[in-house]
Formats: sequence, C-alpha cells, structure tokens
Amino acid sequence: MNWFRNFMMGRYGSDKLNIALLISSIILTLIAKLPKLGIIAYISYIPLILCIFRMFSRDINRRIQENNKFLKYYNPIERWIKGKFNMIKGLKTYKYFKCPNCKQTVRVPRGKGRVNIICPKCSTKFTQNT
Ligand SMILES: [Zn+2]
Repeated sequence: MNWFRNFMMGRYGSDKLNIALLISSIILTLIAKLPKLGIIAYISYIPLILCIFRMFSRDINRRIQENNKFLKYYNPIERWIKGKFNMIKGLKTYKYFKCPNCKQTVRVPRGKGRVNIICPKCSTKFTQNT
C-alpha cells in the first residue's frame, strides 16, 4: 500500500461530489439494464470518469470549489431527507401537526389527549388530539 500512498500524495482524493458521481454512475448502469435503454450504459461512464479524474487531480483548490458548489445544492436536500426520515422514525412516539398560521411542523408526544399547542415560530395557539 506504500506505493499507493506515494501515488496519492498531493492528489485530491474523495469528497461528497465524488460519491454522488459514483452513485449516479451506478444508477445509470442499472437503468441501462432495462430493455431499450442500453445506450445509457455509455452515458453512465461520464460521471465515473469525472469521479476518477477528480480523485487523482492535483488541482486541489478547483476540486474544493466544485465540491462547495455541489454542497450548496446538496445540503438542503440532505437536510430535508433527514428531516422526513426522523419524522418517520418518530411516528410511534410523536404526532406531527402543521401550524394553521405559518405551516410550521410541530411535534407533540402521542397519547396525551387533547392538548393546546403553541407554535414555536409564530406563537399561534391551536388545539389537537394526540
Ligand atoms: Zn406558526
């Protein structure tokens, strides 16, 4: 592995953009297995080649800038997905309501009967069954 460490010295390596490129290449390869979509197999090489190029690139500053641009769009999506995932995980112990005024999602413990809820964002009061 020593030769590999020497080879990677001063090269960029991996980041979230590279992982996303790799995953999109894998997804395109899988789509290409569907009938009449074989041409996509060639397209699937594009993100893969980009991923390999970025990994071994010595222009580290430019790669960091590319990754930051990608994260600007990716981070809000990841936050949204994580929020939905946490919501599904908490469905057994919590009930979720939308504030009638500002549409903010409010989390309340289940099984507490009828409760008065005060929206943490706009302080609107509303009553719900938990
Ligand atoms: Zn509100």
